[in-house]
Amino acid sequence: MNRSLILGADVGGTYVKYVLGDGDEPGRWTGEVPSDPASPATTFGRLAARVAELLPPAAGIGAAGLACAGIVDVRTGRLGRTPNLPGWEGADLAGLMGIAFPGAAIALANDVNAALAGEARFGAGRNGSDLVMLALGTGVGGAVMIEGRLLAGHRFGAGEIGHTILDVAGPPCNCGNRGCLEAYAGSRGLLAAARRRAAAPDCSPGLRALVAERGDLLTTRDLADLATVSDLAAADRDAAALFREAGERLGQAVGNLLNVLDPDRVIIGGGVAAAGELLLGPCREAAARIVLCEAARSTPIVPAQLGSAAAAFGAAHLAAIHLAAAAPRERS
Ligand SMILES: [Zn+2]
Repeated sequence: MNRSLILGADVGGTYVKYVLGDGDEPGRWTGEVPSDPASPATTFGRLAARVAELLPPAAGIGAAGLACAGIVDVRTGRLGRTPNLPGWEGADLAGLMGIAFPGAAIALANDVNAALAGEARFGAGRNGSDLVMLALGTGVGGAVMIEGRLLAGHRFGAGEIGHTILDVAGPPCNCGNRGCLEAYAGSRGLLAAARRRAAAPDCSPGLRALVAERGDLLTTRDLADLATVSDLAAADRDAAALFREAGERLGQAVGNLLNVLDPDRVIIGGGVAAAGELLLGPCREAAARIVLCEAARSTPIVPAQLGSAAAAFGAAHLAAIHLAAAAPRERS
């Protein structure tokens, strides 16, 4: 059997996104299968059934990488605390993946670490070896790569950049603290700021009307659209100010990271980052004000390129690395 194919999978609360291919074309097949929040074994069984339908005759999976939100202990193969998959906590992910894909080398990673590995190999981090990634979703995930290696931390808890505290008197964060980066630059925090602004008596009419009209369905995309309408005179000053404040807070966090880590570049991904320069412009200015090393003030702060597929591509890449490292031992 020709086992040259590599699978990368990213487990979310609703779907598993996968990419299947080889070193030249890692995304030859891509798609999703439903995840079962109560059972990793059922989920991996669905994934294996889909992969079996796609595989050419006499082809097999050489390596499979799995990305998952939460604390992933790559030493034991077990998953620790995880937010969206309550039935998965404590599961032996490596063992269960080995049952679903017998004979394949198995690699595991936290989802934001996998997304950074994907961007580093195929996207915005290409040719970089020292990288920081921030994923601005509902919350804010972080990942750090140093000299080409992902920083896991002693207890696999490194990279929680979203919970670095920027103002102890700031807005409440989902983690129980106040003023975390996530409370400003995650969509939950940004939408809360929009609602607070809309309730103020001097709020611009455009923002107030949008918040009232969209109610619980309000998204950061709605806010970005309001801030960037083609008629510049009508672009909403308060909507733009929300992104400016979030961008400045993001820049505060990024500037701190540049002082600590001095990376080649910083990659900003996630749905909130779709606001583009509304957010990244103020971020770059705020970061540059904080950075001590003059040469590091122009460190590129760039948008991610792979979108929501980054973690699946990264999981495939980590699996390929794992397979290459295991192969010489197996031959000897
Ligand atoms: Zn927090």
